[in-house]
Order: sequence, then structure tokens, then C-alpha cells
Amino acid sequence: MSQSYRFKFGNLKGEIKPAENNDNPGELMIVGMPLVSNIHMSTAGAKEVDCPLCGKRCWASPHLPEAVKMFAGRVIAACTECSLRANLNKGVIPKRLHEAGLHPDDLLQPILKELDG
Ligand SMILES: [Zn+2]
Repeated sequence: MSQSYRFKFGNLKGEIKPAENNDNPGELMIVGMPLVSNIHMSTAGAKEVDCPLCGKRCWASPHLPEAVKMFAGRVIAACTECSLRANLNKGVIPKRLHEAGLHPDDLLQPILKELDG
């Protein structure tokens, strides 16, 4: 059983809970990678990689492989800017991947290799 946290802030109500593998069925999930220009994370075991969408340098968390396993086949990692833009344009990235003949794993493999090496 996972714990959740309910909050109310003014008119805004919500619930925060740990991700589960049946969250958002059918949707592409994006793991945000903080931009190198915003924060330094090498001490947290993160590795510097290129965002697969815009090419900016960002930090891949050592926990990324866990998220990849949890959302197998429907997760990519992208810098925080691309992640935020993607949430405002749902469906754009899956359409672009499809048009380019790419699977979400194709974008993840170079990043996972960096984390391994
Ligand atoms: Zn990006």
C-alpha cells in the first residue's frame, strides 16, 4: 500500500502519491532531467547527458532505470524545459516519435548507457 498526501491550498485541491506502473494508461510518461544550467547534481550520482528532444545538457538521475522499468515502453526522459512544454502539448511528442519511426526506448537507450558507464 502506497502512502499519499492530500493538500488544499486556496481553491486548489490535490493528492500527491508515489508513481505506480498502472498510472496514466496509454500515455507517454516523461521523466524530467534538471538542466545543468540550473543545478549541479554530480554529487547525487547523476550523470550529464544531452536532452534527446532539444540537446541541452541535463542531469540523468541514477534512479532513471527504475522509472524505465516501471513504465516500460511508454517512458522517455527529457530536460525540465521539454518536460514542462510536453505537459502543455499532450500528444505532440508521441506523434513526433511515430512520424520519426522511433519507439520511446530509442530515446532512452543513449541516456541509460551513460548511466551504466
Ligand atoms: Zn530538452
